[in-house]
Amino acid sequence: MANLILILGDQLTPDISALVDADPTRDRIVMAEVGEEAGYTNHHKKKLVLLFSAMRHFADRLERDGWQVHYQTFHPDNDLQSLEAVVADQLKTLGAGSVITTECGEWRLHEQISRWHERLGVTVEIRPDTRFIASKQEFSAWAEGRKQLRMEFFYREMRRKTGLLMTGDGEPEGGQWNFDADNRKKWTGKPPAPAPFRVQPDAITREVIELVDKHFADHFGTTEDFHFAVTPEDAKAALEHFIDFALPCFGDYQDAISDTEDWLFHAILSPYINCGLLDPLTVCEAAAQAWYSGRAPINAVEGFIRQIIGWREFVRGIYWLHMPDYARENRLGNTRSLPWFYWTGETRMRCMHKAIDATRRNAYAHHIQRLMVTGNFALLAGVTPEEICDWYLAVYADAYDWVELPNVLGMVMHADGGYLGSKPYAASGKYINRMSDHCSNCHYKVNKSTEDDACPFNALYWHFINRHRDQFAGNPRMGMMYRNWDKQKPERREALLKRGDALLATIEQL
Ligand code: FAD
Ligand code: SF4
Repeated sequence: MANLILILGDQLTPDISALVDADPTRDRIVMAEVGEEAGYTNHHKKKLVLLFSAMRHFADRLERDGWQVHYQTFHPDNDLQSLEAVVADQLKTLGAGSVITTECGEWRLHEQISRWHERLGVTVEIRPDTRFIASKQEFSAWAEGRKQLRMEFFYREMRRKTGLLMTGDGEPEGGQWNFDADNRKKWTGKPPAPAPFRVQPDAITREVIELVDKHFADHFGTTEDFHFAVTPEDAKAALEHFIDFALPCFGDYQDAISDTEDWLFHAILSPYINCGLLDPLTVCEAAAQAWYSGRAPINAVEGFIRQIIGWREFVRGIYWLHMPDYARENRLGNTRSLPWFYWTGETRMRCMHKAIDATRRNAYAHHIQRLMVTGNFALLAGVTPEEICDWYLAVYADAYDWVELPNVLGMVMHADGGYLGSKPYAASGKYINRMSDHCSNCHYKVNKSTEDDACPFNALYWHFINRHRDQFAGNPRMGMMYRNWDKQKPERREALLKRGDALLATIEQL
């Protein structure tokens, strides 16, 4: 009997596990653009264009390779607006006896698919996603019995497992596991940052842009200047562009933020890796090769590989280990709504305006903008994890629940009580000033703390430290902050707290 093979929008990999052993003459592949998936959050318009266009290109390729593909394009009047409805309909027309799919990247859909065998009355085989380096079982075996999980130790396991940047004797290349201490330079315009890799939209992409502009007009962001790759060939060219032009400086300026450059020396590969156009291991091997052939320094290559086989795998492991409870965590007891300027970028805080505006235009902001600007502000202001997580899930082209949630709820908001990160990434304006050139262009003064024109991050930082004394005073990595706070004169502390209260009371006007 024929099988129905469901391929999701982030599973655009020809050797995805759902296709292994499939029979092109008998089985049918189903792919669908449905309202339920496109509309469950306010997905950035460029993210929708990227995924719909990449899905259409992938389906075309499968058909050319001899597969039978049922592809449903999006239209608001389609009767079938959920994956379940499309699958049920196809089961009927094909008379198939089973559904085969690869495990999906979010709990919400995983729950639904797990019930299909009862709801649809057929066998549903959910296969592991072999595109990750560590399986879910491998991660949970590693995590077993550890009170706190530290990425660095997991990362070393992944280095050993993949052999990436390892000598024949099982030692890390360059004599160190981690070169992060070399990766904290401020960027002052030199060397110039490379132009990002751009692909001219083809006829399929142009059609999708029209569709998104018409039917998703109220979604965040813009389709203007869409230049992402939508095929594996173009994604590979984007990888080569990164290796040739950005990787050599990736490490040095990994933590830098610029008032004028959106992309700096970042890879801009996560949208492709996460939807299957690029394989994470191939990406890492290409970077390692650049070091072996003397085209990029070790601090850049190690730092880059750590992000992928370390952080990326680590957050995925945590997600599947602790969902669905993880999504409900709010250990700092935050209650504040997300300020509206996260959607408009209309704020006098230059760093926030720049990060949000780049996000709106590009469906992209680099890691330090996400962590130390928009994330840091939400942490200091005490925004509810749920609202800030929803924002991050909506606005980035690379955002999927499995990777967004631990990064935001755990790393940024410290809402999991320090399970993912040993201390909150809270910082005052001083940090942003050290790593960027925003402050000299800002309405607020970074060297002031209590005055009306003082940088909001400064008083909010101390407000955060003070209001969470119970949670953090005993943390050895935070002891110095509390000593600094306690050393300040009572009048100064009072003035900082008063300014913090005033900022929070007028947050929408900042
Ligand atoms: P680079 O900076 O060049 O890094 C190289 C690659 O490493 C990335 O392509 C990505 O695959 C991987 N990577 C780096 N850091 C992480 C990380 N912390 N977690 C997982 N992978 C990582 N990444 C996503 O892919 N999707 C998200 O929804 C997402 N949300 C984030 C939210 C917050 C608050 C923070 C702090 C980080 C988030 N990240 C997310 C991680 C990281 O910011 C992005 O992967 C990165 O900015 C993507 O751009 P790039 O390809 O230019 O990455
Ligand atoms: Fe951001 Fe403060 Fe600097 Fe303004 S002064 S850019 S608000 S850190």
